Amino acid sequence: MKSKKILVTGGAGFLGSHLCDALLQRNHEVLCVDNFYTGSDQNIAHLKEDPRFSFLHHDICNPLFVEVDEIYNLACPASPIHYQSNPTQTTKTNILGALTVLELARQLQIPIFQASTSEVYGDPLLHPQTESYWGHVNPIGIRACYDEGKRCAETLFFDYQRQYQVKIRVARIFNTYGPRMHPHDGRVVSNFIVQALHHQPLTLYGSGEQTRSFCFVSDLIEGFIRLMEYPDVIDGPLNLGNPREVTVLDLAQTILKLTKSPSILITKALPSDDPRKRQPDIERAKKLLKWEPTISLEEGLQATIAYFKNQQVVEVKR
Ligand code: NAD
Ligand code: UDP
Repeated sequence: MKSKKILVTGGAGFLGSHLCDALLQRNHEVLCVDNFYTGSDQNIAHLKEDPRFSFLHHDICNPLFVEVDEIYNLACPASPIHYQSNPTQTTKTNILGALTVLELARQLQIPIFQASTSEVYGDPLLHPQTESYWGHVNPIGIRACYDEGKRCAETLFFDYQRQYQVKIRVARIFNTYGPRMHPHDGRVVSNFIVQALHHQPLTLYGSGEQTRSFCFVSDLIEGFIRLMEYPDVIDGPLNLGNPREVTVLDLAQTILKLTKSPSILITKALPSDDPRKRQPDIERAKKLLKWEPTISLEEGLQATIAYFKNQQVVEVKR
């Protein structure tokens, strides 16, 4: 395949850094743009010597002009504690950031990928969630800066497609985990692993009966690239995630077993608007991209636990 120059916004984050790796492995050139809001230099340190990799410190809320052949737009804090710590900035990154990259795609007439989210379904009334479901989102709650920001970004993407014929690819990503997750971003997988490794109590929010479906990062990134490289028009967004649904309590018990940790479980208040259920219907992705996750939850958790063991991270503060 012909080598391309590819812009990855949010490339120093968890998913972005794995995407940079995968694109370089496919022999492309990568321009990583990030403002280190939640990402880190450490995530991309191993790429700095590669002559096909370059980095630009830039906030995507501001205009950007660079010559590239494709764009993956991932810039946005993804964990609730980070996106809620400066909610207006989260909304700005979603909307002004989307406009920045869409304008670039329009001017250069190049394809653009948007990292959207299962959060567009909110606390879903349809289970599992199909792409045709319009969602159940509280527009004024504490998650709205992210949920509504991502929904408005999708609106902009589809309007740029209709109005300016920009070739867009929109992935609705379900909970993804793996090495390079930020140890203190409060997401459930990283929290439970770090707590278990430090023999601290695992913090179950609410009863732990709420469900999520966890996808290992390498499976997701393969889905991103297949979606971007799909040769024909794709009408609408595509769910990408692992359909295996578990309760948060099941997840805690699996992590305790895999880490052989003596930690106990304690209960904390459930955050407001916390979705009760989440499971992707991935039939469209399976059919169009011939894609489905291949890494089991146990296998993926083992790899993530090994990563955190090597990181020697300090305890989760709560
Ligand atoms: P992350 O926080 O690790 O990465 C986000 C990156 O974007 C960071 O490097 C951060 O510094 C950068 N960034 C934030 N605001 C920016 C700005 N204004 N300008 C430039 N860079 C900026 O999160 P992640 O888990 O890697 O998520 C990446 C994308 O995938 C996000 O858009 C997120 O909404 C989406 N997503 C992730 C998940 C998941 O489970 N990880 C699920 C659904 C959607
Ligand atoms: N959660 C939990 N304990 C934690 C962190 C999270 O019980 O220490 C719960 C959280 O309330 C939610 C689920 O785990 O129901 C997933 O949370 P996360 O922040 O990882 O992702 P999201 O809620 O955005 O899906």
